[in-house]
Amino acid sequence: MHITPPEISENPKKYAKKEPYFAMLSKNPHNRYASAEDIIASFEDGVIDHAVVFGFAFKDLGLCRLVNDYVIEKVKEFPEKLTGFMSISPNVRGMEREIARCYDAGLRGIGEIYPEGQRINIDNKKETAPLISACLERDMPLIVHVNEPVGHYYHGKSDIPLKKIEKFIENSMGAKIVLAHWGGGIFLYETMKEIKEKFTNVYYDIAATPFLYDERIYNSAKALGLCEKILFASDFPLLPQSRYMEGLEKSNLSAEEKRLILSENAKRLLGLCN
Ligand SMILES: [Zn+2]
Repeated sequence: MHITPPEISENPKKYAKKEPYFAMLSKNPHNRYASAEDIIASFEDGVIDHAVVFGFAFKDLGLCRLVNDYVIEKVKEFPEKLTGFMSISPNVRGMEREIARCYDAGLRGIGEIYPEGQRINIDNKKETAPLISACLERDMPLIVHVNEPVGHYYHGKSDIPLKKIEKFIENSMGAKIVLAHWGGGIFLYETMKEIKEKFTNVYYDIAATPFLYDERIYNSAKALGLCEKILFASDFPLLPQSRYMEGLEKSNLSAEEKRLILSENAKRLLGLCN
């Protein structure tokens, strides 16, 4: 879930001036901001009781620090309900120090990275290696925004070819990577032997599914034997958790497969126990 400190949600225009990608996303008519308290209040619909939260991935590391401070504070306040990830601007001076600081303060993953908004060449090993090394060193997952290369346009839809995502995974040295939004459909290629082998440590989240796909997307994942690699994600406050339940119910997933997607896979990935 996306979490925003009040100082940004109260004055987004101030931050949009310096950050073109943030400005573009904030033009999305569905765009909303959620505080930690809003996120916890959303648990009342009974779908989930624990969330992975992170702030916006700004290009400017100082702004990443600002959102990370908020996540650190709120995770300490609500440790049973929130797991925090850190916003990081890859390839900028001070990146490694910020990762170490956030990890020491209790954050347990990096993301969501926006290759286009943060201007990194995701297929260039030189640009991604320091980030990947920092994840491997701490056994932390990294979430990367990927979107489908076809279909309707919306604010935030980028133009990164899936071939570049393949190259990024090839360069990721076995780090745990979560490709957001079903990896833009790249999971379908796990039927190719070489992709399956390269993508052993890749997971896919289902954020924004109700805007994009019908329930057959779940059936496809099941048919490909990928139920252990799919992670529930709501993109809240873009969408409420309850909006995902209809598709999940209509799908032919078993109760056990739904349980994997709704919680068990994430617990395994994050090393969270009951
Ligand atoms: Zn995304």
